[in-house]
Amino acid sequence: LETKFPSIGTTIFTVMSALAAEKGAVNLGQGFPDFDCDPKLVEAVAEAMRKGLNQYPPMTGVPVLREAVANKVEALYGRKYDPAAEITITAGATQAIITAILSIVRAGDEVIVLEPCYDSYVPNIELAGGKVVRVPLTPRTFRPDFARIAAALTPRTRAIVVNTPHNPSATVWTREEMLQLQDLLAPTGVFVISDEVYEHMVFDGQLHQSVARFPGLADRAFIVSSFGKTYHVTGWKIGYVAAPAALTAEFRKVHQFNVFTVNTPMQHGLATYMADPQPYLQLPAFYQRKRDLFREGLARTRMALLPCEGTYFQCVDISGMSRMKEAEFCKWLTTEIGVAAIPQSALTVDGDDQGIVRFCFAKKDETLRTALERLAKL
Ligand code: PMP
Ligand code: GLN
Repeated sequence: LETKFPSIGTTIFTVMSALAAEKGAVNLGQGFPDFDCDPKLVEAVAEAMRKGLNQYPPMTGVPVLREAVANKVEALYGRKYDPAAEITITAGATQAIITAILSIVRAGDEVIVLEPCYDSYVPNIELAGGKVVRVPLTPRTFRPDFARIAAALTPRTRAIVVNTPHNPSATVWTREEMLQLQDLLAPTGVFVISDEVYEHMVFDGQLHQSVARFPGLADRAFIVSSFGKTYHVTGWKIGYVAAPAALTAEFRKVHQFNVFTVNTPMQHGLATYMADPQPYLQLPAFYQRKRDLFREGLARTRMALLPCEGTYFQCVDISGMSRMKEAEFCKWLTTEIGVAAIPQSALTVDGDDQGIVRFCFAKKDETLRTALERLAKL
């Protein structure tokens, strides 16, 4: 078979989870919690099923969930999205991102991605026939480099993908950085795809700088989030996109022929559950405690800790303790030490190896302690 995408292999998350399972390693690679969600959320979904809410919902998502999302976004970030015309429920953030890209990127359009980045962006742009323009984040500190972003803008630039809090580096953009992006894009017609799946995981009192807070960005943006991250249900694959009506109309043209819509009972269950803001308001403290526990243990190893401002990821620099390449190190760590991690170079196109690997700390304390006991040998 002459394949359409010869350069695309299997995602690193699948590869490392399979290796972790094979070797019986503690899986701190792929990002997902090893603890269950709130039983109240399960009950709310079960209740929707019992009530017979089991047939197709509207193409755009059930109205009560779109309203709950619009209310949350307004309460937290101050922008009012119209639930009817500006919010769409998606099959996870992954589908929201590819659908947003397919809905605006035309053959030959350039799309800027800031590397390292979540591994679906680049293939998504290629699937749309677009040209990926890669701009590295600053080496080792992973901040946006606005001089380089400015230099990458051309008349053919159609969109830029941004992600804060950032996977894999765990950095969180500041208000000043968002304002710089807003100023930079002001004279252009460039769209923004803002991946905010970790919006509720920001630590040390810092605020999540949603694009929704910046009218000059929000007017041109698809904001993407994921209930999977927020409510510890990554296996449910449900998220949403918020975008101005004209962009949402384009999004829905693709969405209707992509998945058409998303399962009904989980939408109703989530809408009921979202009436209480406490679960997401408590998330920063919940994960900050796990971050601190994990960092405390890692600090006793020879791996050098990088800052963790948000997300449920912690990166370490291995260059001072090992000559191995990141990917080789992660395989060795999984096989010999019994802890799986993700090489950050897997999240760049040319495999830029800075000697940095990523751990996920969305785990029970006992899982983190077991992993730390094993890592203590390093
Ligand atoms: N974007 C980023 C940055 C992510 O880390 C993830 C989760 N791995 C996604 C998107 C996809 O989210 P979902 O599981 O809701 O599709
Ligand atoms: N978002 C998760 C991560 O970055 C994994 C998602 C996936 O497996 N595709 O680890």
